[in-house]
Amino acid sequence: MAHLTPVLIQTPAHSRIATALTYQSEHPLAPGTLVRVPLGKRETLGVVWDADPAAAVPEMGKLRAITAALDELAPLSSEWRRLVGFAAAYYQRAVGEVALAALPPQLRDLSAIQLQRRLRKVAPAQAAGAAAAPRTGPALSPEQQGVMAQIRQGEGCFLLFGATGSGKTEVYLQCVQELLTERPDAQALVMVPEINLTPQLQDRFRQRFGPLYGEDAVVSLHSGMSNPQRLRSWLAAHLGTARIVLGTRMAVFASMPALALIVVDEEHDPSYKQQEGARYSARDLAVYRGRLHGAKVILGSATPSLESWHHSRPGAEGGRYQRLEMPSRIGEQARLPLVRRVDMNHQPRHAVIAPPLLEAIKQRIAVGEQSLVFLNRRGYAPVLQCTACDWKSACPHCSAFRVFHKIDRSLRCHHCGFAEPVPRACPECGNLDIAPVGRGTERLQEHLAELLADVRRPGSRSPETPDGIPVHVARIDADSTRHSGSLQEQLAQVHSGAVDVLVGTQMVAKGHDFRRITLVAAVNPDNALFSSDFRAPERLFSLLMQAAGRAGRDAAVSSQSEMWIQTFQPQHPLFDALKRHDFPAFAAGQLQDRENAALPPFAFQALLRAEARSQEVAQAFLSSASAAATEQLAAVPGFDRVTLYPAVPMVVQRVANVERAQMLVESPSRLALQNFLAGWHEILHALRQSEAGRGLLRWAVDVDPLAI
Ligand code: ADP
Ligand code: ZN
Ligand code: ZN
Repeated sequence: MAHLTPVLIQTPAHSRIATALTYQSEHPLAPGTLVRVPLGKRETLGVVWDADPAAAVPEMGKLRAITAALDELAPLSSEWRRLVGFAAAYYQRAVGEVALAALPPQLRDLSAIQLQRRLRKVAPAQAAGAAAAPRTGPALSPEQQGVMAQIRQGEGCFLLFGATGSGKTEVYLQCVQELLTERPDAQALVMVPEINLTPQLQDRFRQRFGPLYGEDAVVSLHSGMSNPQRLRSWLAAHLGTARIVLGTRMAVFASMPALALIVVDEEHDPSYKQQEGARYSARDLAVYRGRLHGAKVILGSATPSLESWHHSRPGAEGGRYQRLEMPSRIGEQARLPLVRRVDMNHQPRHAVIAPPLLEAIKQRIAVGEQSLVFLNRRGYAPVLQCTACDWKSACPHCSAFRVFHKIDRSLRCHHCGFAEPVPRACPECGNLDIAPVGRGTERLQEHLAELLADVRRPGSRSPETPDGIPVHVARIDADSTRHSGSLQEQLAQVHSGAVDVLVGTQMVAKGHDFRRITLVAAVNPDNALFSSDFRAPERLFSLLMQAAGRAGRDAAVSSQSEMWIQTFQPQHPLFDALKRHDFPAFAAGQLQDRENAALPPFAFQALLRAEARSQEVAQAFLSSASAAATEQLAAVPGFDRVTLYPAVPMVVQRVANVERAQMLVESPSRLALQNFLAGWHEILHALRQSEAGRGLLRWAVDVDPLAI
């Protein structure tokens, strides 16, 4: 007898196959079983899904048969299926798209036999080191002990609010260790925002747990891995061989049948939000997943997102997360850096580095310490401009300027990638004098090297270098680290002490454990104070705190570390709170503003975005979607609490010759917004069909968008 079997397959974005397809199979197959099924003329990977009791029962005769079941693999768990189902519904995507995207790409192409071979390669779990001496970490500080005790006793979700260098990672390690010791099958998921940070974390976890559970007990999952590596890690997690999975946002979907602890490090980081396809927040899904598995979830940060901070307020206002605090840095001497504001109104005009800051950098060099100069803009100059006419280095394909990169004398668009050699003369008027305007990291590096040209490193006089060795100003940003391995190499150079001054973007502000950096300077952080994006101050504060956290991490380096801020707004409350390292004060002010303006976390938002050849078409689609919603969705519960704003062009309105527009939908109720979006889905699909002929290229819904 044949069995009706619902199967999810990879569906193209926005295809109308929103749910499972039905196939027939000879044997009943458990939900979660991986199968190969025919689709048109091809064969494809599918996941047997839970039957939808509301779905119409199709006629058996017309159904195609499942080709093969990959039943060497245990079915994906019901928690995993519920996670995927929730993510698809919440972020408005087809469940097949989310499910298949959550599986390693190579799995799609393997036959049952190839899979068997791969499975054999995944080493069986090593006996939990009866012989190995239990490797414990350092003795915990009182603050760490307090936090551990609270996590032990509590349940659900914790917000670990701990200063940079307060030993949060050590807390994660010990929580994982306790769990794995107590429960011989349990698994832990540890997430970090950036691929760059996984090797460091992997080293720390391997060193701690390798001797106990074998090297294979710790695996990574991130987009920088090759497909075979990714499959291997995924299988190890699915089989339970891997006790610990370290990864970036994609790891939130790892199949971990015995998941019992989730850590989200730097939980405030925007990288946790996927920016294409299903635009999920891995942090938010981690919290949801924790509930499904009954697993504890630890969100850690020195500058939590205002959402998480709000949820962890004591009492009726918050109360969803338990807040844990570790205000002090590890080590007697490792105090938080002293924050100094330089009032640029009182500095020489056009000074890039204020004289007192330059002096301070020289003093650090003189005692053999390093400085980090932070500027969140790469390239040499953001614009080239003709001094005679109005010509500027606009990108012909985008509504943006191309950035001047001096290193290869190119003009590069950071939006579409279009690059050309710098013209010899102004393309408009032939004037030879075209000049860079503004400053990126490349130019800052050059400028600092000039300013420090006469300075020599101490103790470096030798017969070959009787005058001493010149100062080395290095730079680390997305341009300097394009080749794989180059970031690690450049970081090693900094660690070795060969670098005196490091210029960098946010790439170096995050996470890295620099031991000899004692001065951090932000040369131009003011822009974010005037941004139209209501999250800009939050991001700036956390970036500056993170950057400051790079200074003075080594208790053995005894001098007081400093964070310098060059600003025209020295009295700004943001810098004031930063000076006091007072995140709670900053957050309280921001949350008050947000509440007054009815912004998240006091409201819930979604964006409908549209792309077309012309701005009119893009906006027309959004306006029709709005009109149709008002007509057809008035009866949806909570509709009166949903506000639809007018369609507007996006900030960078044209990218690669595509016009982009967006429309904001907002509600004080998450449920009302979700009900609305669920009803809107069908309307948007239908509308899309009728608009496609008019030049609409793409549309997407972004739920809980991070940038508006
Ligand atoms: P965070 O994750 O909060 O930035 P880490 O866990 O990386 O902090 O700790 C900062 C430094 O202090 C690391 O070098 C770590 O090895 C060390 N450390 C952490 N906890 C302790 C402890 N209890 N005793 C000694 N050193 C510690
Ligand atoms: Zn000109
Ligand atoms: Zn461009």
